[in-house]
Amino acid sequence: HHHVLFATREGVEAVVDTGHYHPEAILWQRLAEYRGEGGYALLEACREGTVTVEALSDELERANLRGLGGAGFPTFKKWHFVRQEPGPRYCAINADEGEPGTFKDRYYLERAPHRFLEGALVSAWAVEASALYIYLRDEYPGLHRVLHEAIAELEAEGLAAPGFIVMRRGAGAYICGEESAMIESLEGKPGKPRHRPPFVAQVGLFGRPTLVNNVETVYWIPLIHAKGAEWFAGHGRNGRQGLRSFSLSGRVKRPGVHLAPAGITLNELVEEYGGGMAEGHRLAGYLPGGASGGILPASKADIPLDFDTLQAEGCFIGSAAVIVLSDQDDLRAVATNLLAFFADESCGQCTPCRVGTEKMLTLLERETWQVEELTRLAQVMQDASICGLGQAAPNPVLGLLKDFRGELANQHVIVKG
Ligand code: SF4
Repeated sequence: HHHVLFATREGVEAVVDTGHYHPEAILWQRLAEYRGEGGYALLEACREGTVTVEALSDELERANLRGLGGAGFPTFKKWHFVRQEPGPRYCAINADEGEPGTFKDRYYLERAPHRFLEGALVSAWAVEASALYIYLRDEYPGLHRVLHEAIAELEAEGLAAPGFIVMRRGAGAYICGEESAMIESLEGKPGKPRHRPPFVAQVGLFGRPTLVNNVETVYWIPLIHAKGAEWFAGHGRNGRQGLRSFSLSGRVKRPGVHLAPAGITLNELVEEYGGGMAEGHRLAGYLPGGASGGILPASKADIPLDFDTLQAEGCFIGSAAVIVLSDQDDLRAVATNLLAFFADESCGQCTPCRVGTEKMLTLLERETWQVEELTRLAQVMQDASICGLGQAAPNPVLGLLKDFRGELANQHVIVKG
């Protein structure tokens, strides 16, 4: 077996695969057990009318539940926007989880698929959806089996009408995690992001208003209802509210999914949850939001990791995939690796991204980095790309130019300008 156990602060253990995937090794919570601990009580209360959409929406607002896939949009507002559009409507769950360094959705789906499914069904109920689509990345083959079995359990118990939940497989494209590209893909087309407006809440799947949520966002809904909005919002540091599931990786002693208060700093996250830096490594910097969230130096490891704070630094937390770099990491390799990734994953639909990512990669491979050339190219990509991929692709390079001049010089990268 190639599995390691990670313990979280709440004492939960998760099996995290380290390379060889054995679907049969996933020990997930079955329907009977979930019902035994009060599972699906919320869904039944919603359907019976003892819980109204307005009341639950209020609860989510008080809990300050925001989209945990990356954009951070308040969940109750999304419900509202979709509900005010005429039916039929759809609900689609984004389980593509393609952001490098992100593995939190997998963590929850492997442990508690039914809690996720209850949250997803409640979301579908909230917008009176005609069907619930789940778009699951194909790199999680074990989870396809788990979800199929869990859905079969639900249908057998009469908790979901047969065929109401539709499973769809992704095909390994990073861009299909972008919501409008995901919808194109669900429709059977190549995953190319759409121009906005119209937003998917207005014109989404098959041209109908669609509620699109990330796996983890809906996972929290039954728990927030059971424990109360104040329980969820009661966590948090530095004036921030809520809990965040950090996918922590890189040069730390204990990588894995760590459930921690929103607003925690990188230093606190590494020390209190990650077991400290790996032996012999000194913190040099970190990527707060996977490949696309930019890069910050060790001197900025004391700022709250949250939606708004990081924006001021030109970064974003995204799906909270924190990748820790040390003095032993090669910064040029970090930059070229990320740009090669973006160039590879660009859908090719618009020039600033398709050509810009390739061009930037070429510039980064040169002995000397020309600041003016790089920043002008970055500006064009940020201003003129259709979607977040092209807009965010230059972020790590801009961060390195801004905050890592000393480290780059030490590593013999000549930066001019
Ligand atoms: Fe496609 Fe890149 Fe343009 Fe997004 S920015 S639409 S990924 S080419």
